[in-house]
Amino acid sequence: MSTRKLFGTNGIRGLVNVELTPELAIKVGAAIGTFFGRDKNLILGFDARTSGPMFAKAVISGLNASGCNVYLAGLASTPALQFGVKNHKLDGGIIISASHNPPEYNGIKVIWSDGIETSHEQETEIESIYFDNKIVYAPWNKLGEKHELPDVNEEYKNAIKRHVDLPKLASKHFHVVVDAANSVGGIACPPLLRELGCKVTTINANIDGTFPGRLPEPRPESLADLSKTVKAVGADMGVAFDGDADRSIFCDGNGTIYWGDKTFAVVIKQYLLKNPGAKIVTPVSSSTLIKDTVETGGGELIWTKVGSVTVSQTMKAENANLGGEENGGIFYRPHQAVRDGAMTTVLLLNIMADTGKSLDELIAEEPQYFIEKGKIECPDNKKEILQQKIYEQVQTENVSTIDGVKIWFSDGSAILIRPSGTEPVFRLYAEAKDSDKALKLVENYTAILKEFLSKL
Ligand code: MG
Repeated sequence: MSTRKLFGTNGIRGLVNVELTPELAIKVGAAIGTFFGRDKNLILGFDARTSGPMFAKAVISGLNASGCNVYLAGLASTPALQFGVKNHKLDGGIIISASHNPPEYNGIKVIWSDGIETSHEQETEIESIYFDNKIVYAPWNKLGEKHELPDVNEEYKNAIKRHVDLPKLASKHFHVVVDAANSVGGIACPPLLRELGCKVTTINANIDGTFPGRLPEPRPESLADLSKTVKAVGADMGVAFDGDADRSIFCDGNGTIYWGDKTFAVVIKQYLLKNPGAKIVTPVSSSTLIKDTVETGGGELIWTKVGSVTVSQTMKAENANLGGEENGGIFYRPHQAVRDGAMTTVLLLNIMADTGKSLDELIAEEPQYFIEKGKIECPDNKKEILQQKIYEQVQTENVSTIDGVKIWFSDGSAILIRPSGTEPVFRLYAEAKDSDKALKLVENYTAILKEFLSKL
């Protein structure tokens, strides 16, 4: 962690007891407590990581020292804790989790009173309190207290049930395999699905912070066990969560695993049939499949910068009810405007019940795109000028500079050229209706970038 920065793209993250230590966690807790203010009430929970309880104690100490009261939910998914903030009308919350990172990492995420993670501006404020010694400790007789809040997972589960046509879904007797990544995705979702009349088979469902089943990032290549299990038991669908269960990746009854844009497009299509003209929010990195699906369905597409907090905040500002990311994060605001793995699972089951179609049939209706990726090294201090050069070069095309430079071509292909926020590289993501075209786009723009760079 650099000298003036605590927060990365998704909260505070670091290697346990190397970058992220209990000492740091206590001070971060006190800085967050100072940011919220004395007597404020915050929920706190953690995922399955071995260091979760240790960091929870440290952060609680810091929060109590600054006069904040903590409501400890214990093991809970990120969306369950976000729901808990709103449900109990708390002032905010803390999630101890490193989401999809390997087991040796942990992290601290801060939730605002609306259930959405704190904005970049709010994080900068917390960093300033931390680094400029502006922590305000409470006197001995004004310390915060710790309370237990044990029913958060149950309340969260019941809240999702309100968004289901229960008799219709129950009549289908879907069989679902849940791969919980040995973490909190196995707490609320399997019982929820059983209460909705589904038959549930679980894998990696025991809580184990060493993540013995698979790494916590649900990528198609790491989900072979899910695919095999779905086929072996003849299930209708499989779902795999990341470490804190806000993201979900799905598998059809044939064992085929889909990246998140495919399932997001399924949800968009059905949502627009029921809500004509609705606004759909997605980062500019999302596939053209999302653009096509929204346009065909007569919806209004709103592009954002890359990042789940931006999607949530845009949905709130634009009064939009549906958002999504290609990494398997779907935001359904009638429940809550944040990524929610269990809610997404139920949305897909609802659609399968409504349409009478299987997941593979629903996805087979979508246009097919081929994706190619590339990267080119670029020093951090040349990123801005390089981006400007690309933009000038493509001015006549259909282009967005909301985050990097995204160009849509008239034949349906597209490319996103975006500087990495963490590494000295530019990344290129191209897609087209045939794989040659996508590859050519990456090659062409790599050459153009190199040419510009050599002259800078
Ligand atoms: Mg996550």
